[in-house]
Amino acid sequence: MERFYIAGTKGKGRGLFTSSGLKKGEILFHVDLRGLKTYTLKEIDSNKELDGDRAHYVGRGKYVIEDNLPAFMNHSCDPNCYCLKSGIGIYDVVAFRDIKAGEELTHDYAASSINQLEGLFYFEEECHCGSPDCRNIVHGDFFRLPEDWQRRFYPYLPPSIKRKYRDRFVNLLK
Ligand SMILES: [Zn+2]
Repeated sequence: MERFYIAGTKGKGRGLFTSSGLKKGEILFHVDLRGLKTYTLKEIDSNKELDGDRAHYVGRGKYVIEDNLPAFMNHSCDPNCYCLKSGIGIYDVVAFRDIKAGEELTHDYAASSINQLEGLFYFEEECHCGSPDCRNIVHGDFFRLPEDWQRRFYPYLPPSIKRKYRDRFVNLLK
């Protein structure tokens, strides 16, 4: 059996699962979206061949469509993975805690989104993650996350973002 597989979830369409146990801090995927053909949201919306659910923001108002396994990760308000960005379009998917075989892999959409931190891609939709602490809304604004979650995700933010929002983080971390 493959180490990672796509399967149906309860109420969230397809998701990504692990067939083996994973340790906190383990790197599960290296993703590099540089060099792929880029599209604007308008182009994606008007072209039925392009699957908007697989669109990844790569900066300057452009997206790439990539059907890699991490693209199937659903959002959770209590995620077990984190997307550690080293630049726009380059990230590692890291286990945020120990994960058991058969668990769905999830990340928090608001946790690592450089574009969303810059206010370029705000969105809101209903959350169906099913975690006991579900916040009911999925959104792309790091600063709207509960403060304890902001503090947990802060160490993983790219240095450029830590510098850019230094003033806001000073208040968060004191
Ligand atoms: Zn939720």
